[in-house]
Amino acid sequence: TTSTGATVPLTSQVGGHAGVQTTEDGSLIIKPALTLEHEFYQSLTSKDSFQALRPYVPKFYGTLKLEGQVDESEGSFKEIEGTNKDTFLSNHQDVTSDIDFDNLQSLVLENLSHSFDKPNILDIKLGTVLYDESASPEKVERMLKTARETTSLETGVRLTGFQVYDIQTGLAVNTPKSYGKSIKPSDLADGIARFFPVPSESTSMGLSPQFLLPILEGVRKNVAEIREALAGMEMRMVGGSLLVIYEADPKKVEEGIEWMKKLEGEEALEDEEDEDDEEEKSKPRPPYLVKLIDFAHARFRPGEGPDEGVLKGIDTVLQLLEGRIEQVKKQG
Ligand code: ADP
Ligand code: MN
Repeated sequence: TTSTGATVPLTSQVGGHAGVQTTEDGSLIIKPALTLEHEFYQSLTSKDSFQALRPYVPKFYGTLKLEGQVDESEGSFKEIEGTNKDTFLSNHQDVTSDIDFDNLQSLVLENLSHSFDKPNILDIKLGTVLYDESASPEKVERMLKTARETTSLETGVRLTGFQVYDIQTGLAVNTPKSYGKSIKPSDLADGIARFFPVPSESTSMGLSPQFLLPILEGVRKNVAEIREALAGMEMRMVGGSLLVIYEADPKKVEEGIEWMKKLEGEEALEDEEDEDDEEEKSKPRPPYLVKLIDFAHARFRPGEGPDEGVLKGIDTVLQLLEGRIEQVKKQG
């Protein structure tokens, strides 16, 4: 589907290191990756024991070498240029000590925001432990301090960053990571309300309660499903996130909600058959989506049980969503 092979920076990137690229048509993202993240996606694709997690992560299409060569064993993206290696290095000066330069490659993943007209996007970093087991003692100290001084240690979440569209101006308003790093656990509810606003005297941003509520309910249901999948997974996820996306354009939201209602009426339908990509693109879909992203420091740990810090974070998210649902109901 990619013809010229050009890639451009992902303008809707709301967190993490600069350097995530997208293909010109916006359907794929190219993320410079460390070996662990590549291994994670490979295990996820190949091992049946990880099956439960597959619906909740971006589709993985293969890898590209940063020089622009293609690892043909895994993908068919021969024409896509890899991310420039110098750009990658200058954007990752803080972590260059962790990187094995000979193994630099990029992951080709589904762009989760592609099917939205005006995507509101929130990255929530999960977990109480923010350092990898291979981190240096200095880094462990630093990350322990960061967890203590932010919402991470107490609640298992940090709002990494988010964008919310102002429909009047047509522009995305960005809240940077400094916000999520500075707030206290008691401010998290306010943070969630900023991401799921309803129009009021003080802001024209957001959807009316009648549209926002089904989105909040749907997001909560998806997060609960993700919790269930993670509870059965023996892994450690350090620095991973929930990426929450919903449509900001009220017309599109209305269409999506109409379609969902119709689907409910038809009752769970028959089992959906595998469809080809063309059909998938034009297929109506809910006006929201939740996935797990960022497996740069994720490891499968058979026999060690689930990641309790990550589950704690997911429970915090569920509570926050429930709280927001109650608030919005009162305004509706
Ligand atoms: P980092 O390791 O630098 O934190 P992430 O995987 O968290 O990298 O990605 C950084 C940001 O890029 C995310 O906060 C999100 O905004 C965007 N992003 C990452 N993966 C995807 C994806 N599959 N689809 C859409 N946006 C993505
Ligand atoms: Mn990240």
